[in-house]
Amino acid sequence: MTIADYLLSINEPSFRLKQYNQAIYQQLIENWDEFTAWPKLLREKVAIEFPLEKLVVINHQISKKKDTEKVLFSRVKNDRQLLETVLMRHQDGRNTVCVSSMVGCPVGCTFCATGTMGFIANLTSDEIAEQVLFFARRLKKEQQKITNIVFMGMGEPLLNLKNVLESIDIFTDSDKMAMSPSRVTISTSGIVQPMKELFAKDFKGRIALSLHAPTQALRESIMPIAKNNHLDKLMELVDQYINKTNKRISFEYILLKNINDKQRHAEKLAQLVRGKLIHLNLIPYNPVPGFTLETSDRKQIDRFSAILTKARVPHTVRVSMGQDIDAACGQLATKKTSV
Ligand code: SF4
Repeated sequence: MTIADYLLSINEPSFRLKQYNQAIYQQLIENWDEFTAWPKLLREKVAIEFPLEKLVVINHQISKKKDTEKVLFSRVKNDRQLLETVLMRHQDGRNTVCVSSMVGCPVGCTFCATGTMGFIANLTSDEIAEQVLFFARRLKKEQQKITNIVFMGMGEPLLNLKNVLESIDIFTDSDKMAMSPSRVTISTSGIVQPMKELFAKDFKGRIALSLHAPTQALRESIMPIAKNNHLDKLMELVDQYINKTNKRISFEYILLKNINDKQRHAEKLAQLVRGKLIHLNLIPYNPVPGFTLETSDRKQIDRFSAILTKARVPHTVRVSMGQDIDAACGQLATKKTSV
């Protein structure tokens, strides 16, 4: 039962729901005592049915530079199921939360620590929203706000699409967190069917597609999911999306030494994306303990970038944040997790 249904069932007037949303999502209360707009009796009833605590904080790490924080949460419904969420405090003032949509991930990208966990559970929309609320409450104490949300944590968001979209409603509803949809990015490994569903829903947020290779064969060797989701089909979908919305898509490309970072890869990549309304993010690989993959040399990254520049492909080499606390891209994995 939703909170709206519950309030109706106990004959509370409709303004109570608005007050609830304001308290939870705007006032960012941390306990029911702060919610003085409601009579104590009503608070006590709702507290039993809808506890404020949606996730339990197990560990909170802050990077040496203090620009990245990572929180390890456990689920209330199963304290052995763990997930991680990252806050990045950018120098330009943006505060981005990188949320998880799952515990573990079934996709198994070869460069990603989460992929080694396999699929454990989908997170509910409340559990996804709670990751953002946790940092929103923290930033509020510093008179700061979350400016961006990216679904780039643990899990493939398009394989938990219903809950992900419900959480985005919480982030963007004017009665709730009231963020602009353009501040929310769903990042996908590229799964054709749910991409079609998402595009058909007239999604107002941003899309990031993990490309990671310029050819089908290389992509399959890095990302097993690519076998059933052909690069040609993904590019066709991207073209349709851009034609329909005139919105830019981001492509993510993790640079793996001697695997996808050679001159021929950059040239092929430029051919693949040139002329499209896209922005390419080059992500130097962040080492994961136990993996044999290596980060591309700085010179090689510069050469790769120069080829793209020459081909007029808009791109950025992403600056890694939070490596010292294993919070960077591809490093999230809750070592203690079990079912
Ligand atoms: S990169 Fe994303 S989709 Fe791939 S295994 Fe990791 S969490 Fe899953």
